[in-house]
Amino acid sequence: MRAMILEAPGEPLRAAEVPIPEPDPDQILIRIHACAVCRTDLHVVGGELPDPKLPLIPGHQIVGTVEGVGGRVERFAPGDRVGVPWLGYTDGTCRYCRTGRENLCDDARFTGYQIDGGYAEYASADHRFCFPLPEGYRDLQAAPLLCAGLIGYRSLRMTSDAERLGFYGFGDSAHIIIQVALHQGRKVFAFTRDGDEERQSFARELGAAWAGGSSQLPPEELDAAIIFAPVGALVPVALRAVAKGGVVVCAGIHMSDIPSFPYESLWGERAVRSVANLTRRDGEEFLTLAPQVPVRTQATPFPLEEANEALKAVREGKIRGAAVLVVDG
Ligand SMILES: [Zn+2]
Ligand SMILES: [Zn+2]
Repeated sequence: MRAMILEAPGEPLRAAEVPIPEPDPDQILIRIHACAVCRTDLHVVGGELPDPKLPLIPGHQIVGTVEGVGGRVERFAPGDRVGVPWLGYTDGTCRYCRTGRENLCDDARFTGYQIDGGYAEYASADHRFCFPLPEGYRDLQAAPLLCAGLIGYRSLRMTSDAERLGFYGFGDSAHIIIQVALHQGRKVFAFTRDGDEERQSFARELGAAWAGGSSQLPPEELDAAIIFAPVGALVPVALRAVAKGGVVVCAGIHMSDIPSFPYESLWGERAVRSVANLTRRDGEEFLTLAPQVPVRTQATPFPLEEANEALKAVREGKIRGAAVLVVDG
């Protein structure tokens, strides 16, 4: 099969012919239609996340059709359409797994990081961590739901019932989660790089009450903020924009260092927290909610062989919505 493989962090992906994976008893073999590109892929390929499997096929927002099933698989049959997310395996026995926090599992393994992912024609995945996908979404539109949507949704949940929400960074995740937030009756204030008029108008088109540069203060105090950009300097900035009791949620798996800030910025029971990975429950909830909103994703397609170009476009913030590799389109 054709695949884009990472041989060493920091190097571009290389197009290669590799064997089609053999599913083990708990796995399904999937013929891939589309795989959305996530910012985390940049951190895997760039070496910011330690010890990836090597060589590695990146990609953890996979949409495809079941082609074969292992001996213990009963949930899926050949022909079913499935989605594969970032969480690829948990042990089910550690204290996190036993307390509904499998996203923190000590022995978790992740798709497109420790397990080969979706920048290829086929992938095998543990069926217990795959999702049936809602009908009404084409493959291209469904792929970004699987991480940008899912982990964005978990981040939104961490803001509990905050009414006035700030989004720092307005990429794949924010363009989905703003739709959910508005559906829930909240108000969204969008922050982009200073001077990024294009992205600010994209946020307004999607219903943001206000959009501006991240060095600006919003016209109203925020009840919570979600930082989607991997920029630690935004943490004190967002803290200054949130009201007493507000939370700043860091949604990314990697962030540059957070500069020091006066305690006054945190005072008043403000909180800072990160969001790590996802649970299968997050996935089931979000994939049920998405068609009810209904969430519409904007996707820019790239052929599989142009994965490096897609990653570059995501890094440079050139994509409106999500970049998606289309494998058999
Ligand atoms: Zn565990
Ligand atoms: Zn992701």
